[in-house]
Amino acid sequence: MALQFHNTMSRRQEAFEPREAGKAAMYTCGPTVYNYAHIGNFRAYIFEDILRRTLRFCGYEVNQVMNLTDIDDKTIRDSIAAGMSLDAFTQQYKDAFFEDVDELRIERAEAYPAATDHISEMIDIITTLVEKGIAYVSDDNCVYYSIDKFPDYGKLAQIDRSGQRSGTRVKSDEYEKDSVADFALWKAWDEADGDTAWDSPWGRGRPGWHIECSAMSMKYLGPHFDLHTGGVDNMFPHHEDEIAQSEAATGETFVNYWLHCEHLMVNGKKMSKSEGNFFTLRDLLDVGYTGREVRYLLLAAHYRQKLNFRAPRNAETNAIEFVGLEEARTVLRRFDEFIRRLREAAASPDAGLDDATSLCATAESAFRTGLEDDLNISEALAAFFDFMRDVNKALDDSAIAGNAAELVLTTCRKFDSVLAVFDLDKGEKEAPAEILALVEERQQARQAKEFARADQIRDELTAAGWVLEDSPAGPRVKRT
Ligand code: AMP
Ligand code: ZN
Repeated sequence: MALQFHNTMSRRQEAFEPREAGKAAMYTCGPTVYNYAHIGNFRAYIFEDILRRTLRFCGYEVNQVMNLTDIDDKTIRDSIAAGMSLDAFTQQYKDAFFEDVDELRIERAEAYPAATDHISEMIDIITTLVEKGIAYVSDDNCVYYSIDKFPDYGKLAQIDRSGQRSGTRVKSDEYEKDSVADFALWKAWDEADGDTAWDSPWGRGRPGWHIECSAMSMKYLGPHFDLHTGGVDNMFPHHEDEIAQSEAATGETFVNYWLHCEHLMVNGKKMSKSEGNFFTLRDLLDVGYTGREVRYLLLAAHYRQKLNFRAPRNAETNAIEFVGLEEARTVLRRFDEFIRRLREAAASPDAGLDDATSLCATAESAFRTGLEDDLNISEALAAFFDFMRDVNKALDDSAIAGNAAELVLTTCRKFDSVLAVFDLDKGEKEAPAEILALVEERQQARQAKEFARADQIRDELTAAGWVLEDSPAGPRVKRT
């Protein structure tokens, strides 16, 4: 099977055929930088990371553009409330976003254009739409998109427009399906905007949110490109409006494949800032979880299924119990132990290369088949778990060692080019320097036959949360 994706536009799974052989151009709606992104937002960005890494795994050269929304209703509102300039206010959340991206092992996109750097491109598209008679200037000097002028309006979100009153308008960036209306492309300055305004043919003002993504996607990827993604809440109105703006301006199809990821939920509700039921990555790092654990939790469910973030409160202590993250931690410990055993086996004489070759080929093929099937991560992970079970069995019998163990490690590296959750290059170096120094001191004590001192050091290590194991390759420490 070749790579297939569920295309929101057709509501069907389709073979991926890029416009240019071997290349994939994709636009991913990025964060609105008015606060720290929460892990619901990061579910969308991790889905896009798995998409990007899968495309690369399948041999495509990826050109991914992710915008930074640094001007919209929310950034203006909150920068004014904070008494800061829009630039200084949004910069702190841009910086925080990239720190979180790195912590979550999300591969960087090729470009991160910011909306405030592309106002003239937005004005150009709006000018074209006005010239074509698709957009009009209202009596309060705003520019609106006339959805009646674009017969395809509603094709992505499948909106039934019969019986709809024409001529109603909506100025805010976010609105629901039942208030389908002409939407704002350019908003004339008003007091709530403070100092934020740009000159335009329609007077001072600022762009609407939707035009930002039409302008930045087409600037970097051209008027017609392969993939466009976001969370399901982006489908309407944001993506519907992007299609209307772009296709009416250029006369071309805008995007071939639309992919949308389902929400991260908390107690049956979408995790969102407005519900106040969110956790940022920082919240979770503060209570001792790692970016790798959060990443695994978010990637292990298929992107088109709702994922419940299980974090109930203990009835007695009222403390939050991060059940889902604890499970992720347990799984990652198994992965780490597997990698450790392989590294140890690789230091022994060669054995079992034929068996290892066949196990690796089977696992790699099943892993790829899973991903090719609309990023079926459950199938891909199942392929890895089966592989791990079989190889562990062989390791128990010392039936895979030396070059065969190296081959298995190389295969793990291929899986990790998509999953990015193994610690292939870290090993015991994970232990801090003072712990490694104690291990070394104990070695020397043993060599000097000072066994009482050696035992004392072992106890010190245990007290510090490390267990010592003597192996043929020397002593190792693991976290208890
Ligand atoms: P925003 O910063 O609100 O524009 O959202 C950034 C991205 O996160 C968009 O693609 C949203 O669709 C997505 N998103 C927001 N909340 C969630 C959630 N609870 N689960 C998954 N994705 C979400
Ligand atoms: Zn967007």
